[in-house]
Amino acid sequence: MRVRALLLALFLLVGTGFGLAVPEVHAQDDVRALVERMTLEEKVGQMTQLTIQAVSSVRGVPGTSQVVSDSLLRKALVERHVGSLLNVYDKALTRDEWVDLTDRVQSIARNETRLGIPVLYGIDAVHGNNYMYGATIFPQNIGIAATWNLDLVREASRITAQETRDAGMNWNFAPVLDVARTPLWSRFFETFGEDVFAVGAYGRASIEAMQQPGPDGYPLLAATGKHFLGYSAPISGKDRTPAWIPERQLRELFLPPFHEAMDGGLLTVMVNSSEINGIPVHSDPEMLTDLLRTELGFEGLAVTDWEDIGKLVSLHSVAATYKEAVYMSVLAGIDMAMVPYDYTFTDALIELVREGRISEARIDESVYRILSVKQRLGLMANPQSEPTMAGDPETRAASQAASLDAARQSMTLLKNNGVLPAPLTGNILLAGPAAEYIPMMYGSWTYTWQGNDVAAYPDDIPTLHDVLAARDSATVTLAPWGASHEADRLRAWAYGSDVAVLALGEVPSVEKPGDIEDLELPADQIDLVRTVAETGVPVVVVLFQNRPRIIRQIEPMVDAIVLAYLPGPFGAQAVVETLDGTWNPGGHLPFTYPRFSGSLVPYDHKNSDRNDVFNAWNAFQPQYPFGHGLSYTTFDYTDLEVDAQAYNRTGTIKVGVTITNTGTRAGRDAALLFVRDHVASVTPAVRRLKAFESVHLEPGERRRLNWTLDPSALSFIGRDLTPVVEPGVFSIHVEDLEVQFELE
Ligand code: BGC
Repeated sequence: MRVRALLLALFLLVGTGFGLAVPEVHAQDDVRALVERMTLEEKVGQMTQLTIQAVSSVRGVPGTSQVVSDSLLRKALVERHVGSLLNVYDKALTRDEWVDLTDRVQSIARNETRLGIPVLYGIDAVHGNNYMYGATIFPQNIGIAATWNLDLVREASRITAQETRDAGMNWNFAPVLDVARTPLWSRFFETFGEDVFAVGAYGRASIEAMQQPGPDGYPLLAATGKHFLGYSAPISGKDRTPAWIPERQLRELFLPPFHEAMDGGLLTVMVNSSEINGIPVHSDPEMLTDLLRTELGFEGLAVTDWEDIGKLVSLHSVAATYKEAVYMSVLAGIDMAMVPYDYTFTDALIELVREGRISEARIDESVYRILSVKQRLGLMANPQSEPTMAGDPETRAASQAASLDAARQSMTLLKNNGVLPAPLTGNILLAGPAAEYIPMMYGSWTYTWQGNDVAAYPDDIPTLHDVLAARDSATVTLAPWGASHEADRLRAWAYGSDVAVLALGEVPSVEKPGDIEDLELPADQIDLVRTVAETGVPVVVVLFQNRPRIIRQIEPMVDAIVLAYLPGPFGAQAVVETLDGTWNPGGHLPFTYPRFSGSLVPYDHKNSDRNDVFNAWNAFQPQYPFGHGLSYTTFDYTDLEVDAQAYNRTGTIKVGVTITNTGTRAGRDAALLFVRDHVASVTPAVRRLKAFESVHLEPGERRRLNWTLDPSALSFIGRDLTPVVEPGVFSIHVEDLEVQFELE
């Protein structure tokens, strides 16, 4: 029996901890009493978070493992009382290395420090534990969102949390609750898409799954809602550049997922690195205290993002010195600084308290929140890793199957003129940058931060080329990406082929390295499509991308387009199964796929966004609308009904619709319910998503879907900047059906 389970058994045997054989403080329920016993240095240490790099002597570059220095680690934990560590030194660790590292950290913290307070170890396990070899890697969130299947996000989040906690990490910097309103943004793929309701639903499901009780009754780990608030709407589209977000929009489009997250019991938030309306969020008490604490009632831990206190000086120029920046951000409301390399924050904060500029009561507040999270997680009882939870072969096989299932369900068929499903026999030309380049299937945050280090990937992951070439009846010609630029060779290969599969997209990149100047697909990929399409061979495009790159020029030239997003290890299999019809695709866009770089209008725009003398008075002409996704079967929606013609503002609105699989194949569809307010005191959006469900139907099968809407689904942020429900006529739309009712 593992130590943790043993302790739990003991605890249960002896009741409320009497006689428990752990140091006094570890059974200490009263966090406040613990705070009272702490010195100022111990308290400020708890508020300090360092990257593991700060206590390592050797980087984890390919070929070597990160080496953590015992003396630096002791200095951090014992001398400087550091309360939290994060990350890897550049490269993922094996599970055994994680167990060694985290157990070593906790053993020093528990046995060698005066109070024995355990460490919060934070990691970005954003699509599975992507910093651990052997962990289950899932599609990135944008692909998960395309499934419209909350069970899937729950399953992926639970597995991620279990595998993470299993190896001793107890804090996950996920999920991203940012709403992707700017397709240019380099973190688009980390989000659950452009719709605020969907982001809230997926985010909450993920948090509840990650924070669900483990075998010992404590939450598996602490989730993080990030990034608070308004990080995903930089005007320039570039990461960490200014956003101007009026309060109405902030409350309408960016705040609701955090409300959902709080209702789901979120334990920690991470702060937006950028500025909104000229004020860096890390320095803003209105955001971090008035909104986050007073209004949302958040009692958990607020951590800064990477080096962001320093950036108040070096990037944002709102503080002249580092010490002033510490003063600003602590008074604004942060609890913990992701410093992350040194003790500058720690020293400055101690000085500020000694000088009387920051009260010790303010420090106590943050330390209380930090220790409360540690206690809630059960770390006070036992912080060690638990290598039995997720490790047995059967569990691992089930976890891998969940990743494959997620990859399959994310596959989104954007265009099909009948060429798909294709037999994929005979001669196949395979070309494009993603044909055999594994990182493009995974995206960033995979084994390294940017995810573009091929050597850091396991070498047994099948590429698209591997999966196609393994088919008995196919002869695959791979046009190496460099050679794809030679038009004559390409043409010769294409003429001899029955079908061309072109794997396009983006090399992984994220945050500042992921900034781009425009959304167009790179010219060499457009040339590739043109050259191959001109030969007359049927062309199927598969897109692996971080954000919707413009395909307007090539779309008419090709026969089919599959959007694979960033599907992870089973991406190649899921794509080929989609192409040959073994899998019937059912993914649906969680965002509007733009047609033009200069027209990035979301689906929930205003009526005036359509006002245009050209285009038959409809200026909204995306490449593909929000929710778009084709199938190899057909679904029919009928009998959209509400249970009354008029409602008052306290009742609920029951909505039903029937969906029938009218084709010859089993398949999955996403039923999306939108609401439209006909007249409102603030210009209403043309429609807003308020419910969704993923439905699997056999051929001929029919199902009645029922939703219950609260009148708050009809609310909006009114002229006085508070939520309001106004009487009047509303419509509900599902597919091309519409039903109206009145609110009295
Ligand atoms: C990112 C965060 C991440 C943190 C820790 C930052 O650069 O913005 O999302 O959690 O690094 O790795």
